[in-house]
Formats: sequence, C-alpha cells, structure tokens
Amino acid sequence: MSTAEPRRVIATVCLSGTLEDKLAAAAAAGFDGVEIFENDLIASAAAPAEIRQRCADLGLTVDLYQPFRDFESVPPELLRANLRRAERKFDVMEQLGADLVLVCSTVSPDAVDDDELAAEQLRLLAERAAARGMRVAYEALAWGRFVNTYEHSWRIVRRADHPALGVCLDSFHVLSRGGDPALIRTIPGEKLFFLQLADAPRLDMDVLQWSRHHRLFPGQGSFDLQTFIGNVLSTGYAGPLSLEVFNDVFRQADPKPAAVDAMRSLRLLEEQLGFPVAEPAPRLSGHAFVELAVDRESGARIAGTLAALGFEATGEHGSKPVRLWEQGGARVLLNAKSETPGSAEIGALAVESADPSSSALRAEAMHAPILPRTRGPEEANLASVAAPDGTEVFFCGAGSGSWLADFAGAGAAPVPGLGITGIDHVALTQPFDHFDEATLFYRSVTGLRPEPIAEYAAPFGMVRTRGVADPTGAVRLALTGTLVRRGEWAPAVRDPQHIAFACDHVLAAARTLRERGAPVLRIPDNYYDDLDARLDLGEEVLAQLRANSVLYDRDEHGEYLHVCTEMLGSRIFFELVQRIGGYAGYGVPNAPVRMAAHRRQRLAAGSG
Ligand code: MG
Ligand code: MG
Repeated sequence: MSTAEPRRVIATVCLSGTLEDKLAAAAAAGFDGVEIFENDLIASAAAPAEIRQRCADLGLTVDLYQPFRDFESVPPELLRANLRRAERKFDVMEQLGADLVLVCSTVSPDAVDDDELAAEQLRLLAERAAARGMRVAYEALAWGRFVNTYEHSWRIVRRADHPALGVCLDSFHVLSRGGDPALIRTIPGEKLFFLQLADAPRLDMDVLQWSRHHRLFPGQGSFDLQTFIGNVLSTGYAGPLSLEVFNDVFRQADPKPAAVDAMRSLRLLEEQLGFPVAEPAPRLSGHAFVELAVDRESGARIAGTLAALGFEATGEHGSKPVRLWEQGGARVLLNAKSETPGSAEIGALAVESADPSSSALRAEAMHAPILPRTRGPEEANLASVAAPDGTEVFFCGAGSGSWLADFAGAGAAPVPGLGITGIDHVALTQPFDHFDEATLFYRSVTGLRPEPIAEYAAPFGMVRTRGVADPTGAVRLALTGTLVRRGEWAPAVRDPQHIAFACDHVLAAARTLRERGAPVLRIPDNYYDDLDARLDLGEEVLAQLRANSVLYDRDEHGEYLHVCTEMLGSRIFFELVQRIGGYAGYGVPNAPVRMAAHRRQRLAAGSG
C-alpha cells in the first residue's frame, strides 16, 4: 500500500446551494478538487472562466465535468448532433480548466444495442476530445439501457482502444447491482480514469430512485467500499477519491457542515484502506460524567429526583455554578447556566479514554471541531469536541480522573443508594438531518461501533434509532431521530434526551422510588396485558412489573428491565436499566409506550 495520500474530490451535486456556495464549502472542508455538475454551472451567473478563477483562488482543481448523457450507439444524424453538443461542452470545459468529461451509458430510446457501434462512436468522441487535450471517462449507469455493468463498459472501452477513452467506476452503480468488484483487478490502472464513491443503505427498491435519493457518504451505509476500493487501488489507479452522493438531506442541508461530514467520511475510509490518517482511537472504558444544563426550576426538580434515586451531591465546582452528583460510578453534573424557565438538556458528556490526549488528536484529524475551554488556573485541562448536535464531548483519564479535583465537597445528607453502578447509556435525539452524520462522527472520532438501525412507529411519527458502543459495552450512546418532522402538530416532547443508569435491581429500586414518592412514569395496564400474551412471564413477575411500572424486553442473549422517570425538564428524563445475561439492546419495543406515557404526564400537568 502506497502511503502517498490520495487526492480528495467532491462532486458539487453532493452539496446544497449555488455553485459558489458549494465551492466555498468544499474548499473550507479541505477538499483538493471538485467535479462540476453541469446544472450547477448552468444556473450560475459566473462565466466558466470566472468559476475557474474562483476555484483557483480557493485552491480547488476542477477534476471532472459531468454528466454528458445519451451519446453512444445512435443513428448517424443523431451522432452528428451529439458530436456538435460535445464540442460545445468541450468549449465550456476549456474555459473551466477541466480536461475530463464523464459520459454516462445511454438510456436513450433512440440508441441501439450494438457494442461495436458504441465503441466506434465513443472512439470518435475520444478523438475529438484528444484534439483539445481532453479525455473521456465512460460510466455504466446501473439503469443504463444496454450498458449497465462496469464489465460491459470496460469491454466497450477496450474495443474502442483510444488513449483518451477510459472507464469511470462508480461504487454505487457497481455495488447496487450486486456486481463482483474483484473483476476490477482485470482492468489496467491507466484505463481507470476516475473513481466515484458513494455508500448507501441496503434498500429493496428501484435502483434509479435508490441512487437519486438515498446515496450516503462512505461509512454511513452498508456497502463494502473497503474491498471495492482495494480492488481499484490494486490496479495502480492513482487518481482521486471522489465523492458523488445524491441525497435528499444533503441537497438541502447547510453545505459547510455537510462538506465536513463528507471529508470525515473520506478520512475514515482512507484509514480503513491503510493510509496513515490518525492515531487509532484509544480504548474507552466508561462514561465519566454527563452534564445537564438546567435552570433554577428544572435544576430543583432534577436534584430532587437524583436524591430520590439515591445520588449524593458530593461536590461544588470551584469557579462555576456546577454541582456534582454521584452514586456508584454514575456521575451527573448539574450546571445552572440556563436562563430559560424549566429547560433541561444534556450539554456535555464525558468518556473515559485510555489516552485522552490521543483521543483529542484523533478528533482533530477527523475534523471534529475542538472547543475552546475557559478554566481557572488550577483546573483540569480537559479536551472537548462538538458533536453534530452541539453536545460537547470530553475525553477524561480513566478512574477518578483529575477533573474530580475541581470539585470541593458539598456534604449533602446521604440517602441510601438504589444499587446504581454507573451510566449504562446516554440517549440523544438527533435532528433527522444529522442522524447519519452523528453516527459517522462517533464512529470516526471516538471509535464507537455503530449497531444495526431499528425503525418503529411511535405515537407521533416514525422513529429511527441506532446505538453506537464500544466493543465491551462500557460506553453506549443511543441515537434517535424522527424520520419526518413537519408542521405544527408536536404533542410529543421535542427531541427528548435521557440518561440510563445501570442498576443491579431495577424491580426493588422501582418499588423504593414509589415509596419515596419519586416521579416514576406510570405505564398502563394494556402494556402488561400484551406482555403477558407475548412472553408468558408468569403471574408473579408480571404483577411486580405492573405494580412498579417496570418495562421489560428480551432478546436471544438475555433480558432487560427498565423504569423511567417523568420528564424532569424540557427534554430530560432518567431511566434505570438492568441487563440480565448478554442483552445488548435498549428496550426499543417499549419506546412507543414510554412516549405515550410521557404525553399523558404532560397533559396531566397542563403543559401538553
Ligand atoms: Mg457517477
Ligand atoms: Mg434508554
């Protein structure tokens, strides 16, 4: 494997905005070049020569002009028109400073199924291009009328046999059709003119619709791009890695962060391919703390609930209005910095890293924005980065890290604990537009592994959820997003977040919480009747779950007991969870019941 870094290119079609917006975003994210999509240029008021200058000023090369459609295998009179069209586009490319054009395999009803004719006409096009110092990359669209596999496009290119004609490989077109990427190795590297990369989720749908709406940046879908590119690089291909992603979300998202997301995906991919990108992600051994931003009202309610849960206020920060609450290995910081009445949300989460400074260096290499830190002269210097949803992510040393020294004893009256041993997971609702970006962020920056996606119908919309976790389960985040969020009907808690505490005896804890008058979320009888019908847990167990509003789930590895509090502020509730055996999930089947219960609670409180 060569260690020379590949050039990184992005197609303007990946990003939202005018051509000028897209170029600025691509440059700011550190791309070396762009593929200019014809429609972006046509809509621009800037002449191609001005765009060329703009790119040069931004440090971007124009690596490809695309697409040129429906050229080959046509009757003579159409060929004349197509060659004229090509010459006009070569004029544009000349001014743009682009020397490579993408020709997609034809979908035209006027074309005929004749490889020899296709080769002959593409050769003619290549001759015209070569005369102007340009080259042609022929791409097999997955839905091409006659040519829809890369093997077929290569057969035609080989038959045409012109030095200015080569193949463009697009991972989507190859992998969406289940093509065998191993045959790529049979193509000489100098005939591979361009490589376009896109990932995608596995969807059983029309391939054109799949391509136009659901492509993703590498690492966000389920294609095996590592093997695919490995085959391409083994041919000696030394051209750029270029992202070409058509996606409904990216098309309308702020292009600046979208371009950073794109760059992060390429960096992770390069690392998987063996390029030196960053230090490997240090091992994470647990959640160090979660910090909640609260105001006086929510702060009092949350503090009261933490006390009922058996937490102790063990420290006050030396220079900020922050109080530390602890039980077992679970630590919650209440930061009274919010000025919005009743608001409560997760401001920061901290993970214990085997090497916090390496974690921070890796985060930087993965284009995570490092956050400025205001601290007193004696305080711990914790590195933190901003996740896509704005959550601050800290890297702390393992054990009772130095940050604890920032807190002086508060000496609150101790309450008997409830067997809470630590933080099991933190659940963060992502705006839908950031869902894939968030997964990729945690995967690339922290090394947490994405778990399978689950989708379910919740009372107020379709919800998608996915865990990211370290291999031992010591750090787990549950990322959740609604698939559509439109209109004013918003009876649910908007973007709820929760901290799930690991607890040895959830049933006993729930009973104690009830006795203490803690705000436990009431679960309706219908839920338990259904549980009985589905799982036959026995009368005794069922009665205990029902009496204490404990939710239950099981998978092939084990069982899961969990109990939730009511909403304790605008977005926050707590959960106690008990994993029995190797249960690896998050109680997803129970989430709709919990959401409806939170809605009832809000209506009862007159705030729904
Ligand atoms: Mg393509
Ligand atoms: Mg949970």
